[in-house]
Amino acid sequence: MNLHEFQGKSILNSYGVAIQRGVVVNSESEIMDKAKELQDMTGTEGIVIKAQIHAGGRGKGEVTETGSHGVVFCPSVDKLEEKVKGILGGHLVTKQTSAEGKKVNRVLLAEDVYYPGATEPSEIYMSVLLDREKECNIIMYSPEGGMDIEAVAEETPDKIFKEEIDPRLGLQGFQCRRIAFNLGLSGQAFKEMSKFVRALYNAYVGCDASMFEINPVLKTSDEKIIAVDAKVTLDDNGLIRHKDYAEMRDKTEEDPMEVEADEAGLSYVNLDGNVGCMVNGAGLAMATMDIIKLSGGNPANFLDVGGTADAERVEKAFRIILKDENVEAILVNIFGGIVRCDRVAQGVVDAYKNMGEIPVPIIVRLQGTNAEEAKKLIDDSGLNVHSAVLLQEAADKVKEVLA
Ligand code: GDP
Ligand code: MN
Repeated sequence: MNLHEFQGKSILNSYGVAIQRGVVVNSESEIMDKAKELQDMTGTEGIVIKAQIHAGGRGKGEVTETGSHGVVFCPSVDKLEEKVKGILGGHLVTKQTSAEGKKVNRVLLAEDVYYPGATEPSEIYMSVLLDREKECNIIMYSPEGGMDIEAVAEETPDKIFKEEIDPRLGLQGFQCRRIAFNLGLSGQAFKEMSKFVRALYNAYVGCDASMFEINPVLKTSDEKIIAVDAKVTLDDNGLIRHKDYAEMRDKTEEDPMEVEADEAGLSYVNLDGNVGCMVNGAGLAMATMDIIKLSGGNPANFLDVGGTADAERVEKAFRIILKDENVEAILVNIFGGIVRCDRVAQGVVDAYKNMGEIPVPIIVRLQGTNAEEAKKLIDDSGLNVHSAVLLQEAADKVKEVLA
């Protein structure tokens, strides 16, 4: 589950990570009240307006309707309303969104932390993530943070550092200090950075995140270290331990088909191929996607209907798959262990009849308990459904119908 910046920051804050403070604005009518609330809370004069969408690159992004950037600095409240209106309700296009962009339903008004001082503030990049090859969490960081981090990674990869955290030992004090050292910090800022890294890592582990990206982490001109941005992805499998995070889910930011499937209890991931698949069990789903690929097609989705492949679920799954306009054929591949194949076959036939015409050919491979009866049911149905027994046979039929 991805979070908005303001949500990510609130989690960080709850673990003692220093953040750039802000207030959320949901509608134009509350802009000035919220601005006052922010100024009273922080004493800030300048205000940063930040579009809240599930995509990065907002600072350089552009709102289609107004041409405004997605992150705008406002030195005083004078022009604040006008500037917020240039963002709120518009569609923000960034490097990480589609060409239509994402609708901005709320903005964050944040305190100005780039105040001038003896030394300039400096932007640092820091992320925490799981390195599957190394089998441990890593902290990736660079003194060259800010909006051009992709260019830094490309042109000067030696400016990107990685700290591996042994899962048996956890983050060690010397590692926090090494990070602060490699970032070129000294004195107060060095101490602050050590503390920051410790709190950040505690937050990452504590909330069962799968990714934190804080870009920039700011060293202010008075030697404070704070998170100015927060991109947080929580591990869905860990959400059961954090019931209070459920309300942070913003379904308007997610793929509508995936949301619909989730509500129906199906596990579905939209892909960009032309062969829809309906399978029970994640392993079989992966094998089925391989078979589709080998037969010259491309999977249009990953869909696991789970243990109870009854008519209702099968119909729901068909409906979701068929919403995808790229689908030219559907491969149903069910292993009947607990669920009997003839019941699934009946489900397919019933769903088909219920839905009227299904505009693409369907290949059904049912294997396991009562597979023979199932094949007969399909073959006798007189519908545009092809049955198969072996996986190879199913693949050949996919090839045939695509040709
Ligand atoms: P992103 O572009 O989506 O990654 O959004 P960020 O939250 O990282 O903000 C983009 C940029 O806005 C930062 O790199 C800063 O240059 C600028 N910015 C953020 N906060 C402040 C602030 O408090 N004061 C000023 N002057 N600029 C800020
Ligand atoms: Mn950023």
